[in-house]
Amino acid sequence: MIASMRPVIIAANWKMNTTPDDAGALARTIASRTRQPGVMRVICPPFVCLAAVRDALAGEDVAVGAQNIHHELAGAYTGEVSAPMLAGLATWTILGHSERRRDAAESDALISRKLGRALAAGLRPILCVGEQLAEREAGAAASVVAAQLGGCLAGHDPAVLLEAGLVVAYEPVWAIGTGRNASGADAAAMADTIRETLRAAGWGGLADDLPVLYGGSCTAANIGEFLAEPAIDGALVGGASLKPDEMAGMVARAAVTAAARAAAGG
Ligand code: PEP
Repeated sequence: MIASMRPVIIAANWKMNTTPDDAGALARTIASRTRQPGVMRVICPPFVCLAAVRDALAGEDVAVGAQNIHHELAGAYTGEVSAPMLAGLATWTILGHSERRRDAAESDALISRKLGRALAAGLRPILCVGEQLAEREAGAAASVVAAQLGGCLAGHDPAVLLEAGLVVAYEPVWAIGTGRNASGADAAAMADTIRETLRAAGWGGLADDLPVLYGGSCTAANIGEFLAEPAIDGALVGGASLKPDEMAGMVARAAVTAAARAAAGG
């Protein structure tokens, strides 16, 4: 698939923010301020806010996603939420976010199992990968991300993953929540690396169909740098996704890329 045919996606990761009392109003405000043609919008609130956000977004073309799922279907896993439990609440899920790799010691092998559960439940996965600052400074960013992809995706059929709508978010850990974003060129180079890694791992030409997002201190002011890169198909946004003005600016800029892709024959 040529880049112009891949979707343009802005996904909001609200992390551990909002309550069932205020999440619906925020989601509604963001939805109404981001009605732009050609841009796929996703809001991922905390589990306890999924129902409120789903209800608030009724009639809006905005998908609702979870921020995580468990690797088992049910059982003695106190405090956890499994993929089947999200039926009717969410249609997407983030997987392998660096904050979960850090705080819950999620390994690539565990994330791979979660991926299988997401596919089985019909949840569209956003798989997060990204290197630590020390790894980038040591020149190991590409090999770290390639290893994460290998660990998370090995054993999964590329055609099935694409059919399920897999999205990969390149999120350099040093850029998340720090106010220090990667450069557009570096993010695009990593998106190329991601597709090359998959091509070499047996995906062949299917690797070109994979949407790759950038994530890490994205704002309305800097998103243009990423969306100007043909290899980047949108953004996974944390802090700024809680601010309607920021979301309005980011989705408006994404619509420019979507229109350009459509005009280019997408
Ligand atoms: C994220 O949580 O995925 C993220 C990119 O956060 P932030 O935009 O706040 O850096």
